[in-house]
Amino acid sequence: MNLDQIKATITTVPDYPKPGIQFRDVTTLMQHDAAFKACIHHLAARFDDLKVDKVAGTEARGFVFGAPLAMALSVGFVPIRKANKLPRAVIRQEYELEYGKDMLELHRDAVQPGDRILLIDDLLATGGTMLATAALVRQLGGVVEDAGFVVDLPALGGRARLQEAGIRCHTLCQFE
Ligand code: 5GP
Repeated sequence: MNLDQIKATITTVPDYPKPGIQFRDVTTLMQHDAAFKACIHHLAARFDDLKVDKVAGTEARGFVFGAPLAMALSVGFVPIRKANKLPRAVIRQEYELEYGKDMLELHRDAVQPGDRILLIDDLLATGGTMLATAALVRQLGGVVEDAGFVVDLPALGGRARLQEAGIRCHTLCQFE
């Protein structure tokens, strides 16, 4: 499947989670066998040359795309989780949401200094979630240069924000 065909499997849900928001629901992509497989294939083809040491995915949809991508690249997978989910020693990073704050955590021993880490999430909007993810990995000495997403919402400016932080964004499709 090409990128337009993959994009066509994503469902737009109007007024979710609140009026005026067009939510891009990637669960319809995940449940489409050929689209899901092609999606991982396209991401793996883009990142194969980077020779990363690990893929880190952000809870929850970053797990769904990050784990099979790690397998395709023959590297390990690191989960970045919401607060109080990881059982051992963690580092934390708070980040701003539209209303209020949230927290992401990473096991202290999940990244070694100098590890090259590819960051993965399903969707890039303002970039706030991915900046918090990158900050966690960098706190442990991980090297972050690239982030991959299935969907980009360019109107929300995430790509430029991440670029300012030294992170290149790779996305498979865009919704205006
Ligand atoms: P950002 O931090 O870049 O503003 O927002 C991206 C984060 O919010 C991602 O973790 C993503 O899963 C979630 N998100 C925001 N809007 C959408 C959406 O329309 N569809 C999906 N699937 N996730 C979204």
